[in-house]
Amino acid sequence: MTVHKVAIIGTGPAGLTAALYSARADLAPIVFEGHEPGGQLTLTTDVENFPGFPEGVMGPDLINNIKKQAARFGAEYIQKHVTRVDTTSRPFKFYCDDEEFQSETLIISTGASAKFLGLANEKELTGKGVSTCATCDGFFYRDKVVHIVGGGDTAMEDATFIAKFASKVYMCVRKDTLRASKPMQKRAMDNEKIEFLWNTEVQEILFDDSGVTGIKVINNKSNEVSTRQTDGLFYAIGHRPNTAFLEKQIDLDDHGFISTKNGGETNIAGIFACGDVQDPIFRQAISAAGSGCQASMLAERFLHS
Ligand code: NDP
Repeated sequence: MTVHKVAIIGTGPAGLTAALYSARADLAPIVFEGHEPGGQLTLTTDVENFPGFPEGVMGPDLINNIKKQAARFGAEYIQKHVTRVDTTSRPFKFYCDDEEFQSETLIISTGASAKFLGLANEKELTGKGVSTCATCDGFFYRDKVVHIVGGGDTAMEDATFIAKFASKVYMCVRKDTLRASKPMQKRAMDNEKIEFLWNTEVQEILFDDSGVTGIKVINNKSNEVSTRQTDGLFYAIGHRPNTAFLEKQIDLDDHGFISTKNGGETNIAGIFACGDVQDPIFRQAISAAGSGCQASMLAERFLHS
């Protein structure tokens, strides 16, 4: 059985950057692409905030470029999904169904999936009015009307950010209270462009060929249904880190994100994590890429020590 030096699980910007750095360090990484090769960036269109692209870059192009860049130095991609790991001894064993692999170090970069409401057409309309990332897409809503679903810190932060551009931001909150921290609540509530729609749930997305045009909402107290014009619908209802395959062998925080320290170390020596799977706060392509660089350098140091 070949024992690899570095195995990387997940191919968003974090995993691919880890692959690039590990390949250039002559560690011949094997990189598992999983069910969603390229991760969340492959679901987006224009990325305008990744440094180095003055005209912006399409999400899938950015991913393909990093992938090719890492391949140039010897990263090997495997189009398989890692279903199980065994972290009890080194080299670590891990499995794609029944197929076993072994590696001295593991870099976990399986990302986090934004939660969706499960409404008809919402996935097809992502990038055409539906978004799960205010930092990525808020800029496109200058002087437009936006609705945001959610009442946590992300929703408050998204609202405050989008209100810099949009003419009006409505918050669809399913309860009559917010989960967000008090300072974040206050900042959103003090902003005159932001208005709260309490006990409000989105039932349907209305759209035409150009994208989202409105939403149908229900007040879950009065059962009154109404139609609201909107140019954008942002989901801020949480993220689900992709950690189920670890079967709790690695320490997670209360929300299921991998707990890391010193820039990417997990509780198990030789296993590192980078990108959204360990980051509930920033979740940006550039911060994920930066953490991928860190994880790779930590793995290299570990192998040499
Ligand atoms: P949270 O899980 O904290 O909040 C999710 C929100 O979405 C809740 O208001 C929840 O409502 C609502 N929601 C969930 N499902 C649905 C649904 N199906 N329909 C309507 N509403 C729904 O997620 P966040 O992403 O806001 O935050 C995650 C973590 O990251 C938290 O610990 C947060 O503090 C942290 N964070 C910190 C930031 C900072 O410090 N700058 C910025 C962003 C996040 P309900 O309350 O009714 O369940």
